[in-house]
Amino acid sequence: MFKVIKYQGRARRGQFSCAHGGTVQTPVFMNVGTQGAIKGGVSAHDLKEIGCQIELSNTYHLHLRPGDNVVRQMGGLHKFMDWDGPILTDSGGFQVFSLASLRKIKEEGVTFASHIDGHRIFMGPEESMQIQSNLGSDVAMAFDECVENPATHEYAKASCERTARWLERCVAEHERLNALPDTVNPKQMLFGINQGATFPDLRVWHMDEIAKLNCDGYAIGGLAVGEPAQVMYDIIDAVEPHMPAEKPRYLMGVGTPSNIIEGVSRGVDFFDCVMPSRNGRHGKLFTWEGTVNILNQKYEMDPSPVSESCGCPCCRSFSKAYLRHLFKADEVLALRFSVLHNLWFYNELMQKIRDALDEGTFDEFRAKYSGKLEQRV
Ligand SMILES: [Zn+2]
Repeated sequence: MFKVIKYQGRARRGQFSCAHGGTVQTPVFMNVGTQGAIKGGVSAHDLKEIGCQIELSNTYHLHLRPGDNVVRQMGGLHKFMDWDGPILTDSGGFQVFSLASLRKIKEEGVTFASHIDGHRIFMGPEESMQIQSNLGSDVAMAFDECVENPATHEYAKASCERTARWLERCVAEHERLNALPDTVNPKQMLFGINQGATFPDLRVWHMDEIAKLNCDGYAIGGLAVGEPAQVMYDIIDAVEPHMPAEKPRYLMGVGTPSNIIEGVSRGVDFFDCVMPSRNGRHGKLFTWEGTVNILNQKYEMDPSPVSESCGCPCCRSFSKAYLRHLFKADEVLALRFSVLHNLWFYNELMQKIRDALDEGTFDEFRAKYSGKLEQRV
């Protein structure tokens, strides 16, 4: 299902395959369609046009609306949103701990209030696995507690011990559901999630524990929640040697182009982030020269595209002046063009990272772009 075809330092060039789509080339950025759509008026058909290899949707959101049983009745998420490539669903854990209110955590799971209408919901490892099974995603994520930053060592220790116990229950329930005769995707995989806040000792202990459970892949969760980038890099440096080398590694919710280049250099294969779509909807556009704020006055009469070298549906035909006008006039098209551009950029970034790894020039690529892509134009 996964193989590393080349190393440069700790950076890995790999290939991944699952029940849907062809071979996924890694490192890869998963394009985020939280509720089965990409915010900004972008559909799964658009994702095909802009080089997306894997789509990511959200268990918590789809459980609340339209309900995972509705998606199941409609033939699963692939059919529902008409995407025949790989889908990864996150477990709901992160949203339960970031969006929902009135949380009560027990050994069995978490009771919380829906952020939509306040009704009480219970979710534990078994419920998360059941929802993701109903969605029929290719990769299900384990149910975990994403601890708030900063956390005390004492709390983080108790939490990641519980998350380790939850993973055992996820593995058992996932196996049971995959074996049912009417399951939507019997080849669904399960990735475990490493936690432990910003404490290297807890991170390493937890990774060693969950590696024993032989999941299909392993993620580092609970980062990019407000800690400095260097703290995140230090945690990856501590955990990475304890992650099974033959399994895919996924750094959850990360990040800026620079964060991704630094993650790849530390041995990460999968990434996801709302940043390209969220920033795009606010007129912040990524380019190879740095980020552009399209709302800036200086673009009022600018006939050039956002990026001369970009092949996205916006840059192929439209000027900065036009895109700026669409934002100023509150046209929905502004959001769509900006999100398409930013996702194109992220997908192209990953292609260039893979090309550099193939050619053995990743160190030069990192030196050239890791800092530059953080700058504003
Ligand atoms: Zn573009």
